[in-house]
Amino acid sequence: MKGKLVYPYTEALLNYQFSRDHPLKQERLKLTYELSKELGLLKKVREISPTIAARSDLELFHTPDFIDAVMACHDETCVDIRYGLGTTDNPVFANVYDAAARYVGATLDAVKEMLKGATNAFVISGGLHHAQRSQASGFCIFNDVAVSLLYLLKKKPCKILYFDFDAHHADGVQNAFYRSKQVLTISVHQTGKTLFPGTGFVHETGAGEGVGYSVNVPLLPGGGSAELVRVLEEIVVPLFESYKPNLLVTQLGVDGHYLDPLAHLSYTSHGYEAVIRKMKSLSSSMCDLGWLAVGGGGYNVINVARLWTLFLSIMLDEKVPVNIPEDFLQACTDDERANAPTTMRDEQEAIHTEIPRETIALDLERTLRRVKELVFPYHGLA
Ligand SMILES: [Zn+2]
Repeated sequence: MKGKLVYPYTEALLNYQFSRDHPLKQERLKLTYELSKELGLLKKVREISPTIAARSDLELFHTPDFIDAVMACHDETCVDIRYGLGTTDNPVFANVYDAAARYVGATLDAVKEMLKGATNAFVISGGLHHAQRSQASGFCIFNDVAVSLLYLLKKKPCKILYFDFDAHHADGVQNAFYRSKQVLTISVHQTGKTLFPGTGFVHETGAGEGVGYSVNVPLLPGGGSAELVRVLEEIVVPLFESYKPNLLVTQLGVDGHYLDPLAHLSYTSHGYEAVIRKMKSLSSSMCDLGWLAVGGGGYNVINVARLWTLFLSIMLDEKVPVNIPEDFLQACTDDERANAPTTMRDEQEAIHTEIPRETIALDLERTLRRVKELVFPYHGLA
């Protein structure tokens, strides 16, 4: 492994703050950083301070008129519905342009380090996978992943596998590369029939040259670690091995965890851990450009902090204690501690759900069969 893991972080990232009652709270980044630091993990990484992405970089993906619209918004009174700005999901705030462009900068700076030889990076602020070419969407103003991957492809044409296990469909990233086979996108998420953004169905497999290179595995509400691991083994691993990407990108949104307030999946740390370990071994044996991990959703802030810290420990081959340190929890507010975990890993592997487990498993069985029928022939898989 060449060099230390790159970890972009600065308190200026916390300026990306919608209204105070908005579910996306930047404390999640601060708490992740502090917990990872307290457990000694940040001594093993190379911290970099993210810059604000240049307009010319944003234009690799976003339209000039949309960028102008974000620039023209200065405070919470700004509404521009054409561009998704000033809505309930994406209320405008002071200096929104700088804050959103710094989020892109964090991921782009990590990609630049990887182009210089860094083997892996974890960008906890990244993963704004809903932002569209000309519209803010789902708490995402600019799409750090789309911009950064387009930058990379311009500098170094290569094959990229993007795997996203956020509870919500990765619509913005999928759309950015829908006609491309240079980026194979795989999104496993709660079905769009019951959750924003209402897309991500099995039949969305790409267009033109990119047919077979957009992969979607929707799960019923209640889908848990067993389902996640099954998707890993039956879809992600075979596609990884046949596609042989130069770079792995993972979007590690943890709003599919059972403690998360926004979605209705029931993943536990055990399912996530199986995925992260597998991504680590596959990327280290196959990806010459390495592994870029980005954050994503997650709205129970202590839960986000401990899961992303756990993921970082796995990326670094370090151990974490059984319990979240008491002084860390004590420093959190009462609101943050409500319904928060106290251990680094979940005690249970599976969670009781309203929809019977057999129904969820049977639905996935059908979904997997259909995904394989539609996508596998493009990859020489039976
Ligand atoms: Zn999400």
